Amino acid sequence: MPEVSERSVVEALSRVVDEEKGGDIVSLSMVSGLHVQDGNVVFAIEVEPQRGARMEPLRRRAEEAVKALPGVHSVTAVLTAERPAGEAHGHDDHHHGHDDHHHGHHHDHEDHHARELLPEVKAIIAVASGKGGVGKSTVAANLAVGLSRLGLAVGLLDADIYGPSMPRMMGVKGEPSSSDGKTINPLEAHGLKVMSIGFLVEEETPVIWRGPMVMSALEQLMRDVNWGALDVLVVDMPPGTGDAQLTMAQRVPLAGAVIVSTPQDIALADARKGLNMFRRTNVPVLGLVENMSYFVCPHCGGRTDIFSHGGARREAELLAMDFLGEIPLDPVIRETSDGGSPIVGSDPSSPHAEAFMKIAEQVRSKLDRIVAERQAGKPRIVID
Ligand code: ADP
Repeated sequence: MPEVSERSVVEALSRVVDEEKGGDIVSLSMVSGLHVQDGNVVFAIEVEPQRGARMEPLRRRAEEAVKALPGVHSVTAVLTAERPAGEAHGHDDHHHGHDDHHHGHHHDHEDHHARELLPEVKAIIAVASGKGGVGKSTVAANLAVGLSRLGLAVGLLDADIYGPSMPRMMGVKGEPSSSDGKTINPLEAHGLKVMSIGFLVEEETPVIWRGPMVMSALEQLMRDVNWGALDVLVVDMPPGTGDAQLTMAQRVPLAGAVIVSTPQDIALADARKGLNMFRRTNVPVLGLVENMSYFVCPHCGGRTDIFSHGGARREAELLAMDFLGEIPLDPVIRETSDGGSPIVGSDPSSPHAEAFMKIAEQVRSKLDRIVAERQAGKPRIVID
């Protein structure tokens, strides 16, 4: 397969016509942020805000034109809309109430017609794993509480709609309220805003999700929830690397992903699959966390490496991703997380809480950098 070049992508796009304007999208300077890497193509199509909502067919045509090129594996086209100068302030709808959290500068994009997912959230991070049962939710909960302890405004979205665990792990239950009959308010726990499909359906009720329902459920949990202004939204992803995860990675403007693995799963290459999925979709991987890494005997204090501890650190090096830290296997972690009070909050001076805090600190500094880079150049993403 030939390596696809930027030039051939531009050529293909120059045959895509914006019928309302009567010209091709390249000549009309509507294409920006073109990025071609290993056959994966990402670009933005800039449209006027008032046209945003009806530009989806154009976006799709542009994607298809590029997809038809030899050597192209994936194409992601996003619609962006520049907020017209002078319209930035003074609106009374809630999207405009928090401009200080909104980077409020001229690269900021907003669209009143195309609906932007999570306009007031500075960064979204996914906590993912190649398979279930590795402690992904436990890490997500403790990481979220940890980031909040560092002073950030944090939301926690349980996107694991197949097996929501945040009601249990965060110790919250009950029906979220709605102030306007249109959007729902997240519940609050341990200083965070929390939303889970588990608040809306019984945890024991098996919900059978079919392909398109998965995405619309996830989108609703973002779009129809009053997350308000947040520094970071931590998303507990569904386990595995199937369609739901891929779509999620493509549709949500993720700032980065944290991959959780146990030492023995590293050998099974599950984490590797998780990593590849994010790399394919150009989501920066913030690093790898090794969970259930070693065991500290509660009686003698001796440390046992139950599995082949250290595998994750080595694997992370091999895969050129950062190693964020290791969390021991300890019943206390299970009891606190399954009992609704993540250890980072309930026993902050414990060594386990410190291990999570180290991870949270690294995640925060990586996010700071990514958010700064985004502010410096890239437009915000509009999804309709
Ligand atoms: P996942 O989200 O990957 O399915 P969970 O976070 O739900 O995994 O964890 C699975 C089970 O393992 C839970 O009962 C949880 O409390 C427990 N667990 C997770 N991490 C640890 C740990 N480091 N030590 C002890 N138990 C843990």
